[in-house]
Amino acid sequence: MRILVFNAGSSSLKFGVFDLNAGETLDQAKHIFKGSFDRFGPKGCDYRHGIDKPVMEPAPYCTLDEATRAVPALLEQAGIGTIDAIGHRIAHGGDRFSAATQLTDTTLGAIDALTPLAPLHNPANLAAVHVARQVWPDLPQWAVFDTAFHLTNPARASTYAVPKDWRAQGLRRYGFHGTSHKYVAHRAAEVLGQQLRDLRLISLHLGNGASACAIAGGISIDSSMGMTPMEGLVMGTRSGDVDPGVFGYVQRELGLDVAQIEDALNRHSGLLGLTGSSDMRDVEERAAHGDTDAQLAIHIYAYRARKYIGAYAAAMGGLDVLVFTGGIGENSASMRRRICEGLGFMGVLLDHDRNMNVDLSARAAPQIQAYGARVNVLVTETAEQLMIAREVASAAARPKGQGARIPVAVSARHVHLCRKAVDALFGKGYELTQGKPLRQQGHWAAVERVALHGPKGSLHNVAILGPLRARTQIEVSRTDSFALGIDAPVRQSGKLDETPQIRLSGPAGTLDSDGLIIASRHIHMAPQDAGRMGVQDGDMVNVTLEATGRDLTFTRVLVRVSENAFTEMHIDTDEANAAGIQGEGAGQISAAATVMPDMTSRPD
Ligand code: ADP
Repeated sequence: MRILVFNAGSSSLKFGVFDLNAGETLDQAKHIFKGSFDRFGPKGCDYRHGIDKPVMEPAPYCTLDEATRAVPALLEQAGIGTIDAIGHRIAHGGDRFSAATQLTDTTLGAIDALTPLAPLHNPANLAAVHVARQVWPDLPQWAVFDTAFHLTNPARASTYAVPKDWRAQGLRRYGFHGTSHKYVAHRAAEVLGQQLRDLRLISLHLGNGASACAIAGGISIDSSMGMTPMEGLVMGTRSGDVDPGVFGYVQRELGLDVAQIEDALNRHSGLLGLTGSSDMRDVEERAAHGDTDAQLAIHIYAYRARKYIGAYAAAMGGLDVLVFTGGIGENSASMRRRICEGLGFMGVLLDHDRNMNVDLSARAAPQIQAYGARVNVLVTETAEQLMIAREVASAAARPKGQGARIPVAVSARHVHLCRKAVDALFGKGYELTQGKPLRQQGHWAAVERVALHGPKGSLHNVAILGPLRARTQIEVSRTDSFALGIDAPVRQSGKLDETPQIRLSGPAGTLDSDGLIIASRHIHMAPQDAGRMGVQDGDMVNVTLEATGRDLTFTRVLVRVSENAFTEMHIDTDEANAAGIQGEGAGQISAAATVMPDMTSRPD
């Protein structure tokens, strides 16, 4: 499969063409074209192209738009024929996009809506998407998000300790450089001949932007960038970590407004703020000639990175692999050495000759640790474009439905009552009081509650969900069924024949009713979502939960399609506990749908 990848920034456009198929290793992928445009002006721009020995020539394109439109002709000149798909790098996917996503009007709208989270980056990425959709209207185009890899970060890593209503507005840590961190982790495992799932790895991406990422068992569990790409390490022009108290102080004492403060922290801080140059080569050169500002900047840079290594080793309970990448990580032997200095206590020891003689040609990823050191230290070029191509190839090869994202909600124990039951429990003709509306249209939780009684014990204060049904149904978890002392079967809602009896009590009396079940997990689905995901009513799918901190796939999840349904998967509290979900989460369909066998009395 031939994939064209775009990485559009605000003032440059990088693109590449790769031949690779789903399931192939990174080594097997062929990079067949590499190009970039930058320094746009009224007379044109610089155009670099070529893989091994890139050449630079002036080109007549004055804007990114013009340059993007020129790509088909440039590829044709290079003898590159048919393209099968296009992949675009998108900086921010919020908490919504956890995998490569095909670009349609709907998904583009959803990405557009995330612009407030990444006002500097997403608009530039999307500008290229819009042009590419005009130039290649018939090609499938995919978005691959910098944030996606980190959506597995547990809540303890992704949550800021700030007021609840701020968090409700999406204020949380997302992390960036995800495609790069994922690539170097896979590359390191390949080179070491080990399974990524067996490794605790820290990736240090040190370029103009810089971030550290803790990857345990192939899963990102923490990363140093936060809600925006400003948090964490010292960068070319970004401050990295600062006390948020700085904002108020600078505003009061220096009279700067919010936009000026953000601009200063984004564009005039980091190496630039400390030394007047954002380029580590300059800074190292000046430091070597006695410039004390440059010397301090190097100390701060290395110290901050070293602190993150210590923190992430602690977060993972140890460290097996440390990987350096990005312009500084790849090229600065002295910075690698400074960062690792003093980490011998945790098994990080460099071989100084190997560190000095790093050769990264032909996608090499040399090891630079000392003989016998506990932690393998590797250097590798990052290859975000290759990783984007790989994500696109595997997403395109997935059967329809796979990868579709499903919100997950936890159903605590509850009952659905019939008319006769309400009469018995609350008095003849009693009307339940509608309380909180549920997300399934027309459904609500009643203000009233009931109690359940079994031979072992009782459960009080159990919710009643309306509207009334033809038959009473009592849904509990397996743990609840033990608390009650009644063996409840796993059933689909409504399949109540030969279910156990249980006693219910309310203010007006008691009722013995059958209908006690453990509800089998299911997805309510609106017909338009089912159409989009390629599933139908009665299908059974596997759903892998995301961002829970526990990697868990629920198999045999029943899809229930109905008009007006709010698309959402329901699991019970035992399942939620196993997955580490509280209240709400999200998952992805991870296996093709199969037609459902009769499920009426299948044990779980
Ligand atoms: P970006 O994040 O924009 O892709 P790069 O990954 O190319 O940036 O990294 C750019 C940084 O790498 C700059 O600070 C540059 O000075 C630094 N760099 C490149 N080569 C060297 C080198 N030989 N020694 C030290 N720093 C280097």
